Amino acid sequence: MHPNALSTVAYFAQSRWRLAFRDRAKLEAWQQARLARFLRDVLPRAPYYRDFRNVAITDLPIMDKSSMMADFDARNTRGICLGDAFEIALRGETTRDFAPTLGGGADALTVGLSSGTSGNRGVFLVSKAERLRWAGILLGRVLPAHLLKRLLLPWTPSVRVAFFLRANSNLYTTLSSRRIDFGFFDVLSGVEPALPRLNASQPDVLVAPPSLLRTLAGEAAAGRLDIRPSHVISVAEVLEDGDRAAVRHAFGVEPHQIYQATEGFLGYTCERGTLHLNESYVHIEPDWIDEARTRFQPIVTDFTRDTQLIVRYRLNDVLRVSDEPCRCGRVERAIAAIEGRADEVLWLPSRIDGRGVALYPDLIRRAMLFAGPSVREFEVVQSGMQWGVGLLADGDRQVAVERVRAEFEQLWRRLGLESPALDFSDWRPPARGVKRRRVRLVAVPEGLACTF
Ligand SMILES: [Zn+2]
Repeated sequence: MHPNALSTVAYFAQSRWRLAFRDRAKLEAWQQARLARFLRDVLPRAPYYRDFRNVAITDLPIMDKSSMMADFDARNTRGICLGDAFEIALRGETTRDFAPTLGGGADALTVGLSSGTSGNRGVFLVSKAERLRWAGILLGRVLPAHLLKRLLLPWTPSVRVAFFLRANSNLYTTLSSRRIDFGFFDVLSGVEPALPRLNASQPDVLVAPPSLLRTLAGEAAAGRLDIRPSHVISVAEVLEDGDRAAVRHAFGVEPHQIYQATEGFLGYTCERGTLHLNESYVHIEPDWIDEARTRFQPIVTDFTRDTQLIVRYRLNDVLRVSDEPCRCGRVERAIAAIEGRADEVLWLPSRIDGRGVALYPDLIRRAMLFAGPSVREFEVVQSGMQWGVGLLADGDRQVAVERVRAEFEQLWRRLGLESPALDFSDWRPPARGVKRRRVRLVAVPEGLACTF
């Protein structure tokens, strides 16, 4: 077997069997050992961390996207400067030739652009070794048993995966081999041109952002798409109940989720449908944002990577923890929901003490759901005490508007909040390739103290 494939297979086996922890203490012991090795051997190789020897993880500075980009040159272990990395990544993006690498041979680095939502795009570096590792871990975590069997039996047809992505960094083509056939589809080109190829290739696994899965489900219902994937994976956006239902209805399977960002492969859904953090490979400190410890922002240290260092990286996401352990038996932390980014949380003043109260996107989504099935699409944007509501509804629009208004009023009453003014307009779909974001905070009400 080719040494590359061997590395992937080794990580596949490790993540599938060896690191399927059933005992939290054992998981933490493994994590601590890995982390200690990372801090000792890898960290000092980046100039930024040279002076942090023999320190505990909690003594290291917290980073975010802007500090990562600001100190890019010093935070990678290969002496790559940001200008060079950007130039190569942009070249790949404009020519849509997605194999830009820095350097050559066994040490070649993949350079990719991360899909920032607000214009502050980042660039990321991944070595070949990391890519192979990533491929093995990903497959080990998400491949269902029936496809695993196919992958391993040389006389069965290869496993076909259709992957919709904003950009096909060669990170993903790593997975291609004789046993797995990887089809890349460009999210930016939309669904239309993908249909004939999908119909022809009949993928076993379909991977796409949920908004796109929903569009594909619609195409299937309309008879233009005729595929029967046995595994559907949602990536890159929040998976909503409506998306789930659409996928179930069109393809007869429950969509699974991969929680993956530039900052690493952070989570996956198990066979019971629960999202687990990928704690065998990534250290995640919860930064609790409420006293009851139900929600947190993750601070990520990826001890499995050694090129661009992700050390105590605070993600903008808000995660809600699950109250009970998962029935699958895994002890990696179970997440009830990725509620979205911190700028998807809306704020209103309490009528009791005037303090800011957080309205998580999940609450807004639920209110819209209760407004009835005629609400097909929506978007809520808060600017101070004004909420702009974009609405696409079936039937009588005015009826839908009144239902939504009633649901919101009930929500504010229940939480004891002051009511903002509602401003309804027609819903407009996001531009192609732009992430779907249902709830957005533009500005908090003036003078309101908004702390989690
Ligand atoms: Zn589970």
